[in-house]
Amino acid sequence: MIDAEGMGLPMTTLHGTCLCGGVKFEVAEVPETLVYCHCESCKKLSGGAATVNVRVPSAAVRILEGRDLLQTYQPPGGSAKTFCLSCGSNLFGGGWPDSPVASVRATTFDEPFDARPGAHIYVSSVARWETLPDDDAERFETASS
Ligand SMILES: [Zn+2]
Ligand SMILES: [Zn+2]
Repeated sequence: MIDAEGMGLPMTTLHGTCLCGGVKFEVAEVPETLVYCHCESCKKLSGGAATVNVRVPSAAVRILEGRDLLQTYQPPGGSAKTFCLSCGSNLFGGGWPDSPVASVRATTFDEPFDARPGAHIYVSSVARWETLPDDDAERFETASS
């Protein structure tokens, strides 16, 4: 694929890093929608109301640096989550790398990209201190599929 950056053409690759910079990766696909997951696990691991994710094939995620820093945690009854051992940044979910489709945390990307809110999932777990945005995105009580 020809690198379109700087040519006025749409980006074809997104670059991501963890907070300490030890893990660098790229995603060979620029998603159009974001999935906000409000489940209890995402609250615990993100320190926020939800994780904000792009859903891409796991094969589209390429680790460029810091593979030895990646730690995957498999919660009982949930999908595997992967974070940086050095800084704790939450990077991937949805079962990456073994699942066909992965969730990549939108917070890891270092370049702006145009994606609109597509869905809020696990709204059954919205906290009392959390307010869902009025953004026209679809809402699902639990998973979207
Ligand atoms: Zn890190
Ligand atoms: Zn979640």
